[in-house]
Amino acid sequence: MNKGIGIAGIAGRMGRLLAEEVAAANLTLAGGIDRPGATIEGARPYADIAALAAAADVVVDFTHASTAAGHARALAAAGTAWVLGTTGLTAADDAAVAEAARHVPVVYAPNFSTGVNLVLALAERMAAALPAGQYDAEIVEMHHRQKVDAPSGTAIGLGRAVAKGRGVVLEEVAESGRQGHTGARRTGAIGFAALRGGQVVGEHTLLFAGATEHIAITHRAFDRRAFATGAVRAALWTRGRPAGLYSMMDVLGISGVA
Ligand code: NAD
Repeated sequence: MNKGIGIAGIAGRMGRLLAEEVAAANLTLAGGIDRPGATIEGARPYADIAALAAAADVVVDFTHASTAAGHARALAAAGTAWVLGTTGLTAADDAAVAEAARHVPVVYAPNFSTGVNLVLALAERMAAALPAGQYDAEIVEMHHRQKVDAPSGTAIGLGRAVAKGRGVVLEEVAESGRQGHTGARRTGAIGFAALRGGQVVGEHTLLFAGATEHIAITHRAFDRRAFATGAVRAALWTRGRPAGLYSMMDVLGISGVA
């Protein structure tokens, strides 16, 4: 890396940790951007994403979903690799990310921790092995009270892994936020429940509930650093990589259903 790593959202919870992890790995921190008025310490501040993209080999981006389409255009125009951790993106945002990935390497993951990516691979395998007609899939997540989107990006990622293992489209089977007279559970549905409170960094449980047995797999993140170290690893991985849309599973070399 010649120019180094840029951080979008550098004044945020993740941004500050990312700056520490870049330093801890003896890498160059090219600088960062945040919202106007935010205090940026210990890094060169840039006026906007275009200026940061021009000054960096790769931008690690943990900001807000509203930035995604604009950042996608700026990074593609600059030819700068993009590690995108922001969650809560719309389908239109996802299309903008995919368009950027035609021009630059993009690692886009709802969760950059090694453990969650292993769970994603297991989720796909479990879903392929446990018939939807006999095992009801439910995903329960809990996060800190400041989180603005629900279900979490990781929960949706788990849902997508289950849907992939079952050969269905998540949007057609997802059941979120049940309330009132919902009727009986649809066979094959993938259910989501979101809890918010305190300072929980991130907890996810995937449950397959059958008539005679339950199988549950839980991941608990105690420290956001698990995401920051993974994102810096992904940033290094983009070096020399062709344009394309990659996941953290690609970075870690983990595959789902074989
Ligand atoms: P945060 O609110 O602490 O930080 C976000 C930062 O982005 C803030 O400093 C904010 O001022 C800045 N920002 C917002 N809009 C901006 C804009 N237009 N331009 C520049 N900066 C802008 O939040 P956080 O906990 O650090 O999380 C940030 C995002 O990352 C969220 O979407 C969260 O869900 C996601 N996240 C993803 C992972 C993962 O592993 N993929 C892990 C943790 C958090």
